[in-house]
Amino acid sequence: MLEPRLWVSSLCQLDFEALAARGIAYYCLDVDNTLARQDDWKPYPGVVEHLGQARRKGHLRDACLISNVIFGPRRLARLRHLGRLLGIEHVYGALFWDRKPGPRAFRWALARMGSEPGSTAMVGDQLYTDILGGNRLGLFTVLVDPLGEDHWTTRLLGRRRRQNRLLSQMGITRVTGG
Ligand SMILES: [Mg+2]
Repeated sequence: MLEPRLWVSSLCQLDFEALAARGIAYYCLDVDNTLARQDDWKPYPGVVEHLGQARRKGHLRDACLISNVIFGPRRLARLRHLGRLLGIEHVYGALFWDRKPGPRAFRWALARMGSEPGSTAMVGDQLYTDILGGNRLGLFTVLVDPLGEDHWTTRLLGRRRRQNRLLSQMGITRVTGG
């Protein structure tokens, strides 16, 4: 359940065309450390262009941002702001009771995009939220390496360390290069 279908070094290394060939054209995207650094109000360099290109070529038909937010209208404002910059109108700020890996945000995303699990991917940097949640609903899950430092709660839980250990046990290989 924790194993991603694909592991790439970053979203910009994700081959949207190859996934489209497998029938995947809808995307649930994690925000922090996947599209932008934790707390950054602008997407990581290259992300806007890479998504834009996939969209223009028809490999990405619709996308949705799903982020666990801990309190705060400011966090939600940031999400919407990033959504605007990325041209993504569906934005889900999951609060404590419906946070990933819970199914609610994923179900909402599928309904908003009008997509089926079989044609939808979940892209994120954390096994215990993004990948687990996506796998449970039968989405095609893609793990990316984090863009920067983790949120203090992630550090506190020692999640990254456990994740790295787990990844090496799984014996899967990260796809690098274009
Ligand atoms: Mg993240």
